[in-house]
Amino acid sequence: MYVNNKKKACEEVGIRSFEYALPEETTETELIELIGRLNGDPEVDGILCQLPLPKHINEEKILNSIDPSKDADCFHPFNVGRLMIGNPVFQPCTPYGVMELIKESGIEISGKECVVVGRSNIVGKPQAMLLLAQNGTVTICHSKTKNLKEVCKRADILVVAIGKAKFVDASYVKEGAVVIDVGMDRDENGKLCGDVDFESVKEIAGAITPVPGGVGPMTIAMLMRNTVMAAKVAKE
Ligand code: NAP
Repeated sequence: MYVNNKKKACEEVGIRSFEYALPEETTETELIELIGRLNGDPEVDGILCQLPLPKHINEEKILNSIDPSKDADCFHPFNVGRLMIGNPVFQPCTPYGVMELIKESGIEISGKECVVVGRSNIVGKPQAMLLLAQNGTVTICHSKTKNLKEVCKRADILVVAIGKAKFVDASYVKEGAVVIDVGMDRDENGKLCGDVDFESVKEIAGAITPVPGGVGPMTIAMLMRNTVMAAKVAKE
């Protein structure tokens, strides 16, 4: 589903995409060789490796083998480091999409209490960095956080990325808060839903993103933007 949506988006905006669907028994060396060829191919501006990878392949090694200037997902340590020092080339697609949603909705971040629930390398941590760069006062929560509900209730902007269906209900949310749901989960009937219980939280939130149709499409849009930017930089 993810790969098809990305391919469709490429077609829509006029980016040629090449898919390499490799068999599960592909070795780490073979995958690194393929990435090496794409790194050196002037026809290719952006490379992404769809995660998760099979257990016998070291994810970190693979992400490190992508040329940082073609790292459309922004997972390479070089680009992560640039983000950390507040001078990013690329921004990781999901948190970047969240920032665009907030910006386009005319919501001010500066000075606001921002709570990010989840500390993964692809969502929670970079999300916190991007909010901090916009002068939010940022708290990062995780599975060991004590009094999670109370911490969430302080948030003017609450971003939830934990991977637990409908975990955050209205009792976690301050009246009028902006609630961004990154989760992509399945409910008890197998229906796509988020980490936030939309029905109860929408009654109390000032603004809320739905699942599907919220952060997901923004992630893909930002992937397109990163790829176009990589192409522009390559031509400079
Ligand atoms: P992940 O790597 O599994 O990380 C989950 C994080 O949530 C961890 O930091 C974990 O804490 C924390 N957590 C888990 N249970 C918790 C709890 N009960 N209370 C507080 N924190 C808790 O997940 P991820 O890759 O960040 O993804 C999170 C969700 O976003 C998933 O549903 C995923 O499908 C979705 N997602 C959506 C998009 C999109 O494009 N819309 C993109 C990426 C991910 P510890 O670190 O302590 O274990």
